[in-house]
Amino acid sequence: MAPEINGMLQKKRHYIDIGANLTDPMFRGSYHGKQSHDDDFDQVLKRATEQGVRKMLVTGSNLIESRSAIQLARNHQKLLYATVGVHPCHSFDIENSPNAEKYLQDLEALAVAGKEEGAVRAFGEIGLDYARFHYAPADIQRKYFIKQLDIAERLHLPLFLHSRDCAEDFEAILIPRLPNLPKRGVVHSFTGTLEEMQSLVALGFSIGINGCSLKTEESLEVVKAIPLDKIMLETDAPWCEIRPSHASSKFLKKGDQDVELPPMVKKEKFVMGSMVRGRCEPCAISQVASVVAAVKEITLDELCEMAWKNCVKMFGFDDDL
Ligand SMILES: [Zn+2]
Repeated sequence: MAPEINGMLQKKRHYIDIGANLTDPMFRGSYHGKQSHDDDFDQVLKRATEQGVRKMLVTGSNLIESRSAIQLARNHQKLLYATVGVHPCHSFDIENSPNAEKYLQDLEALAVAGKEEGAVRAFGEIGLDYARFHYAPADIQRKYFIKQLDIAERLHLPLFLHSRDCAEDFEAILIPRLPNLPKRGVVHSFTGTLEEMQSLVALGFSIGINGCSLKTEESLEVVKAIPLDKIMLETDAPWCEIRPSHASSKFLKKGDQDVELPPMVKKEKFVMGSMVRGRCEPCAISQVASVVAAVKEITLDELCEMAWKNCVKMFGFDDDL
């Protein structure tokens, strides 16, 4: 039975993690190609649902991972959903494939079929990453961002976008396309400036916030200014955890039930049921939410409700808990 506070039933908070890289081998115990511990994928999902996570959007970042994301969604219906797309840092997966056009056709076919099935709820992650040219130079990134936007215009799915240190090019490419992208989408893992955030919001995009978006005092000011009807929460697990050195960490209160996570151990000390240091999990979304609510000076309930509604509306999730 739910605990009673002041005679009222305490509502369990509920979250949608819009950025969970659950196809990552780390969730199977494999780190940098080496098996360090047993597969604890089911434990990761269990911890997430115990923390109130009701839905997760599993990120597809190339053709193979998008297929895996859809398979996960099939295996965990109503809990996991997928995106389909090629991340800018994976641009060479297309460029170096035997037939780039065929690769893109396969990607589109996968998205179409996944959408019909109900497993695929967004097209992405696509975009530009000018902080990581060692994966792909700007011209190759732009080439496949544009080619994937051609697909997006035919799909009628919201976009799951990645934008890092590229604001001008990003908008210059997107803006002429907007009439054909009425569902807009979310710019996830947002780390840009206040002006960049305001410009994206004015264009109709939502902003996804995770631990990486909350590192500095300046970024907290940006988060404070995001309109409530445009905010979404995510973890980007296994990446982007909140660290003690981040400006956000001062908002995490010890003893707060909604925020406290099971103890973390080094992967070498893993026992089934423990969390692993350095491997962020969807259950940590409660920490992201807690920081965002504190920064925006609203209650956690208010934030959770808004973020929930925003995601339900954009991705067409059912509203039942
Ligand atoms: Zn990203």
